[in-house]
Amino acid sequence: VALPELDTETWKQLAESALEQRLRAHAPYSGFRVGAALLTADGQIITGCNVENASYGLTLCAERVAIASAVAAGQRRFRALAIAAETSPPPRPCGACLQVIAEFCSEDFPLVLVNGAGERERYRLADLLPHAFRLKTLE
Ligand SMILES: [Zn+2]
Repeated sequence: VALPELDTETWKQLAESALEQRLRAHAPYSGFRVGAALLTADGQIITGCNVENASYGLTLCAERVAIASAVAAGQRRFRALAIAAETSPPPRPCGACLQVIAEFCSEDFPLVLVNGAGERERYRLADLLPHAFRLKTLE
């Protein structure tokens, strides 16, 4: 069952959560701070930030941290995701994160990418990852 479109105020709140969360990033190597804010089906906002590691390859992106936190909190149904960084255009999720998002979200899942300058880009998951790997279809 498709969830209704988000209203403007909810999008704004989600974007602000992502912008705020990026300030918690652990990014001493790249200086590239990213925040993510995931809206659950029951209306909670669960956030994540990137967590870099001295070995680089172990670095976790903000989007995957948010999803892992949500799953650990018992949440698996999501309505939208906001991702924030300082870059212009705003940051797009990497391929690894898109695949992790696709584990829980349908092709129509909405994402908003934002930066502190107020730029916004809206996508559906399938715009960014048109042919996600799936072992089975989402229920
Ligand atoms: Zn990523």
